Amino acid sequence: MKIALVGNQNSGKTTLFNLLTGLNQKIGNWPGVTIERKIGRIRKTNYELIDLPGIYSLSPYTLEEEISRKYIFEEKPDLIINIIDATSLERSLYLTTQLLELDSKVIIALNMADIVERKGICIDINKLSKLLNTTVIEISALKNTGIEHLISHIRRNEILENIHNKIYSPFIEEIIEDVKIDVDHSRFVTIKALEEDEMFSKYQNEKIQQKIKEVKEHYNSDVEEVIANQRYNYIEDLKEKVLVTKAVKKSTTDKLDKIFLNKWLAIPIFAVIMAMIYILSVGVVGSFTVDFVDARIGQFGEWLSGRLEALNTSAWLISLIIDGIVAGVGAILNFIPQLIILFLLISILEVTGYMARISFFLDKLFRKIGLSGKSLIPFIVGSGCSVPGIMACRTIENEEERKMTIFLTPFIPCSAKLPIIIVFSSFFFEKNQGLIAASLYFLSIIVIIISALIFKKILFKGKTSVYISELPEYKLPDVKYVLRDVFDKTWSFIKRAGSIILICSIIVWFMLSFSWKLEYGVDVEKSILAGIGNSLAWIFYPIIGEYSWAATVSAIQGLVAKEQVVSSMAIIAGFGEDLAETSLIFGSSIFAFFTPLSAYSFMMFNLFSAPCFGAIGAMRRELGSVKQMLKAVSFQTGLAWVFSTLVFTIGTLMMRIFL
Ligand code: GDP
Ligand code: MG
Repeated sequence: MKIALVGNQNSGKTTLFNLLTGLNQKIGNWPGVTIERKIGRIRKTNYELIDLPGIYSLSPYTLEEEISRKYIFEEKPDLIINIIDATSLERSLYLTTQLLELDSKVIIALNMADIVERKGICIDINKLSKLLNTTVIEISALKNTGIEHLISHIRRNEILENIHNKIYSPFIEEIIEDVKIDVDHSRFVTIKALEEDEMFSKYQNEKIQQKIKEVKEHYNSDVEEVIANQRYNYIEDLKEKVLVTKAVKKSTTDKLDKIFLNKWLAIPIFAVIMAMIYILSVGVVGSFTVDFVDARIGQFGEWLSGRLEALNTSAWLISLIIDGIVAGVGAILNFIPQLIILFLLISILEVTGYMARISFFLDKLFRKIGLSGKSLIPFIVGSGCSVPGIMACRTIENEEERKMTIFLTPFIPCSAKLPIIIVFSSFFFEKNQGLIAASLYFLSIIVIIISALIFKKILFKGKTSVYISELPEYKLPDVKYVLRDVFDKTWSFIKRAGSIILICSIIVWFMLSFSWKLEYGVDVEKSILAGIGNSLAWIFYPIIGEYSWAATVSAIQGLVAKEQVVSSMAIIAGFGEDLAETSLIFGSSIFAFFTPLSAYSFMMFNLFSAPCFGAIGAMRRELGSVKQMLKAVSFQTGLAWVFSTLVFTIGTLMMRIFL
């Protein structure tokens, strides 16, 4: 048995063909032309299926139509599967009415059922089947629904006979009956002969010529035109009878968009949501977890050093373990509760679809500064870690927007920068630490906007791309997915504490414990680290108002990993003092010079300067050259230095004036 698959272009023929045949398919070209020809066997049967070229009618106006017509007339398929795009019934049914004039059996596969549903359109399939006198099966080739149903109808030959509906005016129908040509596909051929189709010119006779004249006189136009018009009228009528467009209830997404994407409210709501996230995770959760975890780590340190002493461990090893490793790694582990909350809330925003929709909304705004709405995704991802954030820039097609977004993504405070924010704000801004954290987040947005404007003016000049992305609807978060996401991110943070931070802590301990002459146990001020820091302290003087080797080396270590800034400070502060509780950092004489103002400007520098080596590497890969990467790093660091210096200087001046 031979079956032909016929339908408009893009109606889903190839998709259905692949589903019906599975792997049993051959692809070649139609004889003599380069149009693709696919032949296969329908699963579970011996039926041969052929994917005919996409056509809109059986008139011989295009090569595709000619091929299809020839195939039907010469190869005589036993069955035609007419695939219809249910979302454009009118266009599709034109071909259907022609197919139904053939003698072939026709079964209709009403495709795209999935979209129809979503669009709130309802097609009365039974009615359609009755009016057309054909079997109609609803399918979705893409979602693979209804396919088995279709196959079983074909196998069991449960297909209505083609009874040639009378769809034209009585005047025309009478003529068709009158001049009937007695061949295969009689009705089709007769109509084509009346239309003076060249392929059937051999059937032209006097009687037909006479009738053509009559039609022309009666309707005052070509037979072909009359036939086409009446076909459309029939389809129009049919469509009205089977199509019920439900008064589409406003979907939840539309309702929510009314609020979340409201012209005036969208940005304030976004700002409040982001602020709440920081206040919740850094402020609320932080205020009662940091001290708790800190105390546990402190207890653990005491217990461990007690055990080590009991085992007669040498003093330097105890110092390495307690002052180096426990202090350094412990300082980072403190922040896990806050990070979990932060990751959780951001993940929820992502999976509910809010992020995608707000980034679509922001597209217009972003475009004004030379970015696209798609830039928001790297920024949001970057709030976890810049490395995947930078990689997420790949979704931005426009080269300049992509590069700009790569340059800007590290400005977003990543999770490793959070410890810096928390340590400083919890000590210096105890009451408002959440607000301070949120303020830094918004500052980063301002820095991004300013940088983008600078870039747009100087570095990149070009057209922006169009935002094309199908927006996901709002949906309730999938708990399993969210938990998995939070776990993955938290775990990778813990892994960093156990690897890169561990190694750095050991190195810092070493450089603090030894002098340049490699004497152990020297005064901290004579240590290697202090030496390095002293030679570079001038860089940070304008930012913190103090020549501090300790702050200098800590900030520089941010290049390795941003958490290391805090780890290093904890180790340095804890040196010679008791334990590595973060609150002790500023109790130590080494860091006693910090004021709320210099704390804020120092935080700013650490947040906005060059990111860690991991992110710098990612920038090099994604920007494609060392030169571009250096450009980005110097831009970031330069900007961070200028901004934090400005904040410190202006702040100092204001305090002189007002206090
Ligand atoms: P052809 O030109 O008739 O061969 O059509 P294709 O099989 O290439 O399909 C055209 C497009 O429509 C493709 O992007 C398909 O993924 C899509 N498509 C096909 N069937 C369905 C369906 O049932 N639902 C939806 N949503 N899309 C479909
Ligand atoms: Mg195709």
